[in-house]
Amino acid sequence: MGMPAGLAACIRSTWVWIALGIVASLGMAAVSVVMLLELRRDAWEKAAQTSRNLLQVIERDVARNFEIIDLALLGIADNLKMPSLSAMSPEIRQLVLFDRAVNAKDLGVMLVLDEDGNTVYDLAGWPPRRINGAARPYFKLHEADPHLGLAISQPLISRLNGQSIVVLSRRIEKPDGSFGGVVLGSLSLAYFQRLFDRIELGHAGTINLFHEDGTRIVRYPQADPVPAPNFAEAENFQRFLHEGQGSFVAPTTSDGIERVYRFTRVAGLPLVLNVALSTREIEAEWRAKAAVIGGIVLALCSLTIGLSLLCGWELGRRAAAEKELARLSRTDALTGLSNRRCFEETFAQAWAQAHRSGDPLCLLIVDADHFKRYNDRHGHAAGDAVLRRLAEALSESVRRPSDRVARIGGEEFAILLPGTDLAGGAHVAQRVHAAAARLALAVEGAEIGPVTVSIGLAGAVPIQGGTLEALYRQADGALYRAKSEGRNRTCQAPPGLEPPQAQKLQRVGGGR
Ligand code: GH3
Ligand code: MG
Ligand code: MG
Repeated sequence: MGMPAGLAACIRSTWVWIALGIVASLGMAAVSVVMLLELRRDAWEKAAQTSRNLLQVIERDVARNFEIIDLALLGIADNLKMPSLSAMSPEIRQLVLFDRAVNAKDLGVMLVLDEDGNTVYDLAGWPPRRINGAARPYFKLHEADPHLGLAISQPLISRLNGQSIVVLSRRIEKPDGSFGGVVLGSLSLAYFQRLFDRIELGHAGTINLFHEDGTRIVRYPQADPVPAPNFAEAENFQRFLHEGQGSFVAPTTSDGIERVYRFTRVAGLPLVLNVALSTREIEAEWRAKAAVIGGIVLALCSLTIGLSLLCGWELGRRAAAEKELARLSRTDALTGLSNRRCFEETFAQAWAQAHRSGDPLCLLIVDADHFKRYNDRHGHAAGDAVLRRLAEALSESVRRPSDRVARIGGEEFAILLPGTDLAGGAHVAQRVHAAAARLALAVEGAEIGPVTVSIGLAGAVPIQGGTLEALYRQADGALYRAKSEGRNRTCQAPPGLEPPQAQKLQRVGGGR
């Protein structure tokens, strides 16, 4: 009650349930895909933030350290211009000359070389350690180019302490502007290792510091051997150089691992710095989550679809069972003909239809003669068999698709002939008698004897008046008369006339 018929029909439909299950599952799947993509984006966002921060911290630290050394070199170069320098005692001169030089932990050596490359001053003390730097590339560069400014060397092995270092150098000019040597300070590569050691990069993360000329000064965590490799022609390095700063995803040439490179130039220095995080590691946490969530959603979707299929299947099964039940409730179990209830419905419909169309309607009531005797002589089962054969015989006696045969009592049948007048009805009655007569011979097993039937025949044209009850009573009355007149015959009720009593019916038409 209360539920609209359309909705009720929907709920009972197998396909609606299956569709609902699929739609619900698709919805769930869509929502989780969106959610997972969101989570993935978050993971990337976080990684981008992390690498940006790392890059910034490293860049500042590197820039600051290089600046400190450079300032010291500038200070020394400045102090070298003091005319009174050569007149000072060595102790005073050391103090004056290196007044701005900090003795930082990673500051390896700080030397002044003359125009021939020989050491003239050494931060470590007086007299200076004897080396000649004329062959070093930075020395030649300064000699050739007065405007070079700060030069940063490739990684070198220090001849004084054996450490891997980079050398920062500036040109010294004589009072006349000609080349007067270089002042240099070295920075131990261990500085970078220590700086990078403090940084959490994951297992496959790397940090690289390049010289503008493509030389990789530092590679972390696995250090390069000296001399350092040059990447001037490498595609990734070209991008660092040309784009200045930014990020991109690319596989690393050396190990094939895909990484997100975030890179920047180091402020004011000919250096390019990058931090590279493995894309696999960036997504690792997300992957694990995605696997769990995906698994759960998949299971839920399967469950939903499974349940809806089950529900739909069960509904389909019930609908089929109901249909079968409905069919059975209108069918006579013994003969397979329509039963009395079905006959009454069909009769009412046929009457209404005939009333609309103006067609005649004919009703035959067929009753087996002395049927009790079959049962008494041959047993109930044989009686049943005869009834089944009789039902077949009756079905074969009608020809039109609209004709209906029903079992309306124990051995009593009705034949409804829409669109048929009494003459047509009488014709069918003749066929029934003939078929019943043939039946006697056809029954298997024991000799059963002839089967005969009595038929009451009545006809009406509903549009001309009358009722279906009256038609039935007429046919019944005619049957009564056929019985009383000796059986095995058809009696016909007078057309359009309802008898006050069945007994008073006249005999109108022929039996045999
Ligand atoms: P008549 O109609 O010629 O007057 O005699 P009858 O013996 O056929 O009539 P009656 O109505 O007295 O008996 C009907 C008998 O039909 C009663 C019963 O033995 C038999 N009968 C009714 N239904 C069935 C059935 O389903 N199976 C069998 N085997 N017999 C049935
Ligand atoms: Mg009978
Ligand atoms: Mg009877």
